[in-house]
Amino acid sequence: MITQKTNHMEYQENMEIVDSAIMDQVLSARESFDPEAYTEEDVKRALQKDVLHPEDFAALLSVAASSHLEEMARRAQEETRKHFGNSVAMFTPLYIANYCENYCIYCGFNCHNKIHRAKLNAEEIEREMQAIAATGLEEILLLTGESPKMSDVSYIGEACKIAKKYFKVIGLEVYPMDSKDYAYLHSCGADFVTVFQETYNPDKYKDLHLGGRKRIFPYRLNTQERALKGGIRGVGFAALLGLDDFRRDAFATGMHAYLVQRKYPQGEIAFSCPRLRPIINNEEINPRDVHEPQLLQVICAYRLFMPYAGITISSREGSRFRDQIITIAATKISAGVDVGIGGHSEKEAKGDEQFEIEDGRTVEEIREMIVRQGMQPVMSDYIYV
Ligand code: SF4
Repeated sequence: MITQKTNHMEYQENMEIVDSAIMDQVLSARESFDPEAYTEEDVKRALQKDVLHPEDFAALLSVAASSHLEEMARRAQEETRKHFGNSVAMFTPLYIANYCENYCIYCGFNCHNKIHRAKLNAEEIEREMQAIAATGLEEILLLTGESPKMSDVSYIGEACKIAKKYFKVIGLEVYPMDSKDYAYLHSCGADFVTVFQETYNPDKYKDLHLGGRKRIFPYRLNTQERALKGGIRGVGFAALLGLDDFRRDAFATGMHAYLVQRKYPQGEIAFSCPRLRPIINNEEINPRDVHEPQLLQVICAYRLFMPYAGITISSREGSRFRDQIITIAATKISAGVDVGIGGHSEKEAKGDEQFEIEDGRTVEEIREMIVRQGMQPVMSDYIYV
């Protein structure tokens, strides 16, 4: 059993080890990044470049760049238009289970939190998906808490098979697993895998993740590589901004994605940009120093560093911010979100929610907003032949 006493930097039995130098490279880049060490000139130089190097990315995440947000947003908008036109993809997350064996002290689903746990069976999953598909969405993101016991790989695989009947694109936000499991889920229809590293500071990580498989830092960090080795088409990266120094964590997230992209050029890369949200039974957890201007800075820096990467903006953020960021840098937006278990087809969700959302607009309302912003809502840009 993995507890507070388990060395978080050591792989455990039954965890696939990939031969990779990426973790060390990311950690050493994070370590040497000093957000205070950049000047206005460094920022201006970075903003003039067509192709950014890691040093330029660092400059854009620095404290000095905070006073160049307008220019960053303008440049980010140019890059987004160049690579994505004016399209904005829509999707919705579907929580199919909320059992979790990990003890992350900042999360409402953690194994010590007394919440209503539930798991949808195949009929219930199908009902939820029918209700979602009826809104016109063609992309779904399936989520579970992290319990390989209660939501095993075959359970997730069955959910993918059902999803394949209703959706063109299937993303997963579930517990990290081995490449053979990803290969199986890919064969069931899964296209994308996103795993949040939460923080790339190993010491902080140890203090925040007190038990469960998630405590093992390298196994989590190398998830995207295992997913790509398993044949998954694209992978998502994120730090939960606000857990530790957000500038350093954003820098590490970008470096992680950049290095994975260089090693696996076939993989599609995406970023999520979550900030801490209040959770059930923990009044103390709230977003701290990452306010909207800081979030905007991070998102624009991701866009300028990796112009082809997808950027998802979640319903954790308020409508005003979401409406603006899709015109600047974000390329994917969630809509019609219910973070409880089974809330799409039933009035009463079976299980509690992981966190509170800010933007509860329906699919139609988000679609209308995208059009109002002069953008084009896209349900899916994949054609299967
Ligand atoms: S963050 Fe994820 S792994 Fe951690 S307690 Fe919450 S659901 Fe479980």
